[in-house]
Amino acid sequence: MAAPWLRDAWLRLVNAYESNRLAHAYYLKHNLAHGSNRFIEQFTKYLLCQAKGKSACNQCKSCLLYAAGNHPDTWTLDGDETSRIGVDEIRDLQKNIVNKANQGGFKVAVILQAEKMTEQGSNALLKVLEEPPEDTCWLISTKQPEQLLPTLRSRMQWLNIPYPEAAQTEEQNAQAAELFDALHKLAPLPELKDKAMAADWLMLSERLVSDMLAELNRLPEERFYFPGLLDNDKRLVQCSWLDARHLSEWVSECRQLRQIYQGSPGINLPLLLTLAWSRWSNFLLGEE
Ligand SMILES: [Zn+2]
Repeated sequence: MAAPWLRDAWLRLVNAYESNRLAHAYYLKHNLAHGSNRFIEQFTKYLLCQAKGKSACNQCKSCLLYAAGNHPDTWTLDGDETSRIGVDEIRDLQKNIVNKANQGGFKVAVILQAEKMTEQGSNALLKVLEEPPEDTCWLISTKQPEQLLPTLRSRMQWLNIPYPEAAQTEEQNAQAAELFDALHKLAPLPELKDKAMAADWLMLSERLVSDMLAELNRLPEERFYFPGLLDNDKRLVQCSWLDARHLSEWVSECRQLRQIYQGSPGINLPLLLTLAWSRWSNFLLGEE
């Protein structure tokens, strides 16, 4: 998964698959600009692939069928192509799914923009999920997760994806700018008064470093968490010793800190984050 905000969800699904704990249905927030459709396509291909590792092999018969748009074991209802998704559409999908997989593996049913589902459509889907067919995975995206029927939501697993908001809050933008300056020793490092505050700054740090990496990789602007800092990022990556390896390490470091903190809230997160910032800062200024 190229986009950093999709990676955690991707790993979660792959781990679930590998340990035989895949849920019958997942739902996630529809966000076309930030790759929700692509994410669903990639995971569909992965599930159908007959020779997968951590991603689809792109070479087996299933992968080739999928790439050609001809795989017989996956079906998509796309709300983008219709004014509503009704009970008939859901029942048609259901009829396909009760059959054995043509290629002998998984079957994947996809509903994009499920907010277009009518009430009867939702109820029909609920019926299917109450007695889910074997070896079938439902992948559902919706612009309004909170408006899906609660009974329906309870039958699916929520895949949280931290998409970059088109507009991060003013406060987050200001904080990102503050951290950017602090890492360049143009301002003091933010003072982390408690763990909750450190956890917020940790998330912000991960996004800021992801942006630097995105700039280094010349990704398009919509891939950035803080487009307002793009000029800063551009100047930064001209610094010759900054490379993708270090930036990727820093992003992973943030992610690891987050996981450690979730597992053991007793750790001194403010201290660990401050130490990480100092190290990055020294590196950025060529003092390492
Ligand atoms: Zn394959």
